[in-house]
Amino acid sequence: MRPLLLLAILTAFSPQKPPGPTVVHRKGLTNKMVEDRLDKYWQRAQQEVYKSPEELQAQAKRDARRGNYLPVLIRGDHSKKWLALTFDDGPHPIYTLKLLDILKREKIPATFFVVGFMAEQYPQLIAAEAAGGHLIGNHTFSHVMLTHLPPREVQTEYRACNDLIEKLIGKRPAFCRPPGGDYDRDVILGAEANGLTTVLWTDDPGDYAQPGTHVIEQDTLKNLSNGGIILLHDGVQQTLDVLPQIIEYAKKKGYTFVTVDAMSKELLQARTGLGR
Ligand SMILES: [Zn+2]
Repeated sequence: MRPLLLLAILTAFSPQKPPGPTVVHRKGLTNKMVEDRLDKYWQRAQQEVYKSPEELQAQAKRDARRGNYLPVLIRGDHSKKWLALTFDDGPHPIYTLKLLDILKREKIPATFFVVGFMAEQYPQLIAAEAAGGHLIGNHTFSHVMLTHLPPREVQTEYRACNDLIEKLIGKRPAFCRPPGGDYDRDVILGAEANGLTTVLWTDDPGDYAQPGTHVIEQDTLKNLSNGGIILLHDGVQQTLDVLPQIIEYAKKKGYTFVTVDAMSKELLQARTGLGR
């Protein structure tokens, strides 16, 4: 067989490469308003690529080393057996109430980084989250990768989501999370200009990709650590399936669940503790 023909056959039958690095965030989570914009940067900004906890730590250390300290909350106090569960991308018409039920049953608080255009569609779910004693954070209005936008658009994204949340629950958020953990100096300054502290994460079990309940559970449990901020998503059945076990396990290990505002009081310590 001719080598080129063989190559063509092998290529045709090789397994599909996993999606990425420009995989669209998740099916069902696209903002039509943004999709319809023709600008190239809006199209690129719609593609969410997650930074790993290691990449986030490395970026923070690199900035600190260059004297370019950016106030981001990656981890709470190392000396406290605290964990923060954070749920991005909601509210979701099917999953949010189920998630709230689990948290109520377990009697623990969580932080919801909500997307403005989803909150606009399901305002009653934002009210339910707030009524459940959870913290509402800002995950931008359109769910876009902020480093792809000019600084003024970053501000617009955060401000529009803040305005909406304030309208719904009477309180402006104090915390935000840039989609994908994608940030630079302008993104952090844009958040600060809107009164927002940027929150990242120590653990990402990758639940958005639906890797299976076993993977989500094992990835989360093996990485539990003091001050851990766990990135999960509102809108994934597998997350709901495995959440009670994760919570029970962490409780047995002596962890207390808190919202990120409790952890942010340690932000100054995080500034000096980045190397740990
Ligand atoms: Zn997101």
